[in-house]
Amino acid sequence: MNSKIEVAIVGGGPAGCTLAALLAQRGIRTVVFDDDKRPDLLVGESLLPTVVGLMRRLGIEERVAAFSQHKPGVGFLARDGSRLDFLFPQRAIKGMPNYAYNIPRPEYDNLLRTRAEELGVTFVKRRAELETGGEGREVQLTAACLASVPELGGTHPKLLVDSTGRARVFSKLLGIGAARGKRNDVAYFAHFEDFDSEAQREGQVVITTLQHGWSWRIPLPERLSVGVVVDKSAVKDRGETAEERLEATIDAEPALAAAGKGRRRVTPVMTYTNYQLISERGHGPGWVSMGDAFGFVDPMLSPGLFMAMHSAELLDDRVFAGGAGILDQPVRLAKAFDRIFTELRDWHEAWGEVIEYFYDGRMYALHAAGEQLCEKYGERALPRLMQKHLTSQITRLLSGVATRSRYGRNLLRFAVTHLVWDVAPAEDYAIRA
Ligand SMILES: Cc1cc2nc3c(=O)[nH]c(=O)nc-3n(C[C@H](O)[C@H](O)[C@H](O)COP(=O)(O)OP(=O)(O)OC[C@H]3O[C@@H](n4cnc5c(N)ncnc54)[C@H](O)[C@@H]3O)c2cc1C
Repeated sequence: MNSKIEVAIVGGGPAGCTLAALLAQRGIRTVVFDDDKRPDLLVGESLLPTVVGLMRRLGIEERVAAFSQHKPGVGFLARDGSRLDFLFPQRAIKGMPNYAYNIPRPEYDNLLRTRAEELGVTFVKRRAELETGGEGREVQLTAACLASVPELGGTHPKLLVDSTGRARVFSKLLGIGAARGKRNDVAYFAHFEDFDSEAQREGQVVITTLQHGWSWRIPLPERLSVGVVVDKSAVKDRGETAEERLEATIDAEPALAAAGKGRRRVTPVMTYTNYQLISERGHGPGWVSMGDAFGFVDPMLSPGLFMAMHSAELLDDRVFAGGAGILDQPVRLAKAFDRIFTELRDWHEAWGEVIEYFYDGRMYALHAAGEQLCEKYGERALPRLMQKHLTSQITRLLSGVATRSRYGRNLLRFAVTHLVWDVAPAEDYAIRA
C-alpha cells in the first residue's frame, strides 16, 4: 500500500466508509474523520438489491446477512385497501442480486467502518475543522486539525471529501445553495414489537398511504421499524414530543391502528425534517462531495444508502481507476468530477420521477386500470401480458438496477398517460398533506 495519505474523507457514514474501503482495495491510503456522533437508532434500514452488489465488492455480504433481515421486495397499500406488490424477480437482474436486506443501521455502519479498518484505513475520531483554503484548495483542514493527524505529516491532503451527510459541512462553509424539494414533511420513527407488518412475504417492506402522509414498515430481526412521514401541519396538534406524535399518528390512522393494536415500542422515537435537497455544486478545487452531502430526494423508495455508496463507487471507478496520479492533474480531475455529477443528477432526477408516481397516485390508478382490464379479458389475454411486463419494468426501476433506463421510464410515462381509464382519479390515491 502507498504510504502517503493523499485523500482525507470527512464523515464516516456509508458514503465515506465505502470510498475509504474501495480506495484501500486499490492501495490508496485515506484518512477518515468521523465525529462518532451516531445515535443508537438511524434511518436507512431498507436497502436495494444494488447495495448487495456493493457489499459483495467490499466482501461483507455474509457478515451483513448475519444481523439483517432478508428483503424480498416492497409492497404498497393504498387508502382503499388495495395493494401493489413488487417482489424482486426469481432470476438475478443484469447480474445484480434479486434480493436485498433490511439492516439495523448502526451495526451496518460499524461493519463498514470495521471493513475499512481491516483494509488499512486510518480513522480519526474527531470532528474535522475546516476553513476556506489557499492556492488550489477551496477548502482545507485548519492547522490544528492537520497537526492532530500524524499520518498526514503536516501536509494538506490533495483531495478532501465531504461525506458529512445532511450536515453538508463543505457546502455550508462555502455558501453553496441547494434546490429544495417541495414537501414540508417531518418523519418520526421507532422500533416496535407485536406490530403486524402486513408483509406478503417475510421481510417485505410495506409502504402505506395514510389519511395524512404515508408510513413505512420495515421488518428487522425480531422487531419492526415503523415510520410515519407527514406534513408538519398534520402533526402539530398531536402532542408536544416526538413520542406523543408518533403514537398519536399511529392511533389516528386506521391502517396502522389495526396493525399496531398490541404494539410495544422498544426504542426512543427519532425525528427527521428538511431532508429533500440537492446541492447546486458538488465539487471544487481540491474537494468533492458524496452521498447525502451532495443530495437526497425522498425516503419512500429507499434510494439513500444506494446513492451514498454508489457515489463512492463512481468516484473510485471514474477517478481512481488509474491510481492517485490524477490528483496532480486538476483539469482532468475537474472533468472527471463533472461527468460524475452529471450522472448523479440524472440518478436523482430518475428517482424523483418514479417516486412522484407514488406520491401523486398515478401508480395506483395504473394498477387499478390494469386489474380491471385483466378481469374483463381474462388471464391469457394481452392486458395480463402487458401488466406482467409493466410490473417487471417497474420492479427494475424500484430496485436501482434500471432506475435510469430510458426504456423503463418512457414505458411508465406512456402507461400512466394513455393506459388508465374507467378507474378512480389518481388524486384519490395521492399522498395528502
Ligand atoms: C426519514 C428518512 C428515511 C430514510 N430511510 C432510508 C431507507 O430506508 N433506506 C435507505 O437506503 N436510505 C434511507 N434514508 C436515507 C439515508 O439515511 C441516507 O441517504 C444515508 O444515511 C446517507 O449516507 P451518507 O454516508 O451520505 O451520510 P450519513 O449517513 O449521514 O453519514 C454522515 C457521517 O458524517 C459524520 N459527520 C458529520 N459532520 C462531521 C464532521 N464535521 N466531522 C466528522 N464527521 C462528521 C456523521 O456523524 C455521520 O457518521 C432515509 C432518510 C430519511 C430522512
